[in-house]
Amino acid sequence: MHLALPLQEKLLELSTLERNGDVAMVEVKSEEQQELERLSAKQVRIRDAAASAQLAVDDMELEIRRIQDDERKLRRRLEDNRRQLGAATDEETRKDLQHDLHSSQVRIQNLTSEMQEAHNEVHALRANRDLYQQQLRDIEAEVAKAQRAVDALPKDTSKEDVRGRVEKLKEALPEDILAAYEERRNENGIGAAKFNGRSCGGCHIMLPVAEASRIRQAPETEVPECGECGSFLIRGHAA
Ligand SMILES: [Zn+2]
Repeated sequence: MHLALPLQEKLLELSTLERNGDVAMVEVKSEEQQELERLSAKQVRIRDAAASAQLAVDDMELEIRRIQDDERKLRRRLEDNRRQLGAATDEETRKDLQHDLHSSQVRIQNLTSEMQEAHNEVHALRANRDLYQQQLRDIEAEVAKAQRAVDALPKDTSKEDVRGRVEKLKEALPEDILAAYEERRNENGIGAAKFNGRSCGGCHIMLPVAEASRIRQAPETEVPECGECGSFLIRGHAA
């Protein structure tokens, strides 16, 4: 592999940054961040539960209005029946009206007990909803507090700096060189390493004298490979 000296330096820097683990390592979350995420997830669950509880109240209130409407209609009918009954003289008509009157009364009684049940139920549902709304207010305050704790943490920019630098180095290197480096890195976990004159900075194995000599004497734009681990060896100016 051939590579201009300044780019060899960049390749070595890239390899060193990637090898010391800061880039690939899974980011360790602070306790504050973990707490914020835990509370935020809890907030979502409580918000869903509060919304469901409100929906149940709405449904029951709708049911109560339906019962009230039915009852109003029946009472109007009852009054009509009574008025007509007062005026009717025909026996058959009176019988029909009395029958109608009676069935309206029975239905009103049924509606009244239905209404009683609905009232009990809506009372329980509202209490349940109020409970969730209180929980929601509590968790919102907790989340806000946890967020402030996270915001107050000193900003760790070192990892971002490393990532940014890695990206810059990759952009600076020719594509085929980068591809060869990454392929080697996938194979041996190193990719490119410093050659200090006798040993490879990747595998740290002291190379045979003849090989070390061959590497030292290679043209400076050539990038030799370690006979042991296969890493590209960057000799730098000292070598
Ligand atoms: Zn090596």
